Amino acid sequence: MASDYYDLLGVSKGATDDEIKKAYRKLAHKHHPDKAGGDEAKFKEINQAYQVLSDKSKRQQYDQFGQNFDGGGAGQGGFSAGGGPASGWDFSGFDFGGFSAQGGSASGGEFGGDGYDDIFSNIFGGGSRAKRQAHGSDVQVDMEISFSEMVFGVEKEVNLYKRATCDHCHGEGAEPGSSMKTCETCKGKGRVETLRRSLFGTFSQVTECPQCHGDGKVYEKKCSKCGGDGRVKKEEKIRIKIPAGISDGQTISMQGHGEAGGKGAPAGDLYIQIRVTKHKKFQRKGLDILSTEFVPFSVATLGGKIEIETISGNLILKIPTGTQSGEVFRIKEHGVPDLNGRGIGNQLVTIIVKVPKSLSREQKKLLEQLKDQGI
Ligand SMILES: [Zn+2]
Ligand SMILES: [Zn+2]
Repeated sequence: MASDYYDLLGVSKGATDDEIKKAYRKLAHKHHPDKAGGDEAKFKEINQAYQVLSDKSKRQQYDQFGQNFDGGGAGQGGFSAGGGPASGWDFSGFDFGGFSAQGGSASGGEFGGDGYDDIFSNIFGGGSRAKRQAHGSDVQVDMEISFSEMVFGVEKEVNLYKRATCDHCHGEGAEPGSSMKTCETCKGKGRVETLRRSLFGTFSQVTECPQCHGDGKVYEKKCSKCGGDGRVKKEEKIRIKIPAGISDGQTISMQGHGEAGGKGAPAGDLYIQIRVTKHKKFQRKGLDILSTEFVPFSVATLGGKIEIETISGNLILKIPTGTQSGEVFRIKEHGVPDLNGRGIGNQLVTIIVKVPKSLSREQKKLLEQLKDQGI
């Protein structure tokens, strides 16, 4: 699990958008995987942090819930776009493909100057594309939990049928013991040249060889189990801890629990969207639980005790003399706990005074007397 996004970018919690952007650029430049001394893992982390902190609503959610929780809406948007953090690498400048080819490589010298933004986005788009394709896909599942599981938290097991690292070749894609041969696609150079047309004319672009991923060599024999992909489809059981107080529609993300990446590339993420089933007795409102209780006319008038249902069992509620229909009684700390451990809500019981529908002759007589007295 990555550390705090603000720490990652080296900015304070109150940093402005501009400060975040500046810090991100500096770090992304420093750790870019195509650079000598680059660090792909770090680079990915920084990108992820920036993805969240540069987006107003995502940042707000992050401040509120931390990185494990996305609001349902935001999460969903992420998946359809092809997988959370990575989608941010696309930018717009792919047409400028010529630049990196001209420079030969994404060296630091290309930074700075007027075209900063275009060049910067191009380096992302061009340099990471081949590697990114091998990233494992994100997986989204829906999970239904009961109202009381929502209140108390629950641990659930989910069966995922997904691409996982092949255990025969350990994700290498080669038959164990197979020797290496020169890659035919790139003739051992590890890079291939393609022509790319852009606004400025045609440029040749050098990219990593898709066959050998830059190694220049491939295995003689592909893995007999996965056919060289390094992954096989299989069922995997995953235990998911659902925290108390989660809301209907919220998404839990588990980094690296999506589909396995190809040949050692990072795995995708798993997103679990939570659905809380309706309860026949209780309703949630913020951290409070709302319920309704019927009280006999006589008890409401004279006062007394009734047994009521709470999410953690039955309780005796004292009904004071002269309780009116619609009065609300608060049962302290019988609500929903705050997701971040900041307290617990209350149960709010609305009283409805029950008027009898049919009475015995005796009862009728008693009430007639009251009626005569104007009660
Ligand atoms: Zn295999
Ligand atoms: Zn090759």
